Amino acid sequence: MSNIGICEYVIGIIHNKDIWYYVGEYDADGEKLEPCQKYSSFLSDAKHYDDIDLLRDGLDLLHESVTRKIFEVQRCPKCGKEFTEYPALSRVDNETEICPECGVMEALVFTI
Ligand SMILES: [Zn+2]
Repeated sequence: MSNIGICEYVIGIIHNKDIWYYVGEYDADGEKLEPCQKYSSFLSDAKHYDDIDLLRDGLDLLHESVTRKIFEVQRCPKCGKEFTEYPALSRVDNETEICPECGVMEALVFTI
C-alpha cells in the first residue's frame, strides 16, 4: 500500500541544537511515563499526526518555554527511511526528493 499524498507530522523540540521528537505522555500499556521520557531523538519513536487539529492539540500540551517545531515526515523513496530534514535532490533524475543521507551517498558516488 502506498502512502503517497498522506502528510504525516511530528512535533519536535530543539534542545542544545539537537532535535527531540515528542513521543506522547503514555506508552502502549497506558502507563504514564516520567516527563523526561516524553521525547526521543529517534524519529521512529515519535508520535505521528496525520490530522492538523490533533497536531495542534498535541502542541498545546507542550510547555510554552521550549522551542516547539512541527516537522513534516517524508519517506525516502531510495532507502525507505523516514526523515524530517530538508530533502536532497536525487542526482539520478534531478527531481526525486531523497533523504539527506542518500543525497550524500549519491554525491560521493557521482564524484568518483
Ligand atoms: Zn534515503
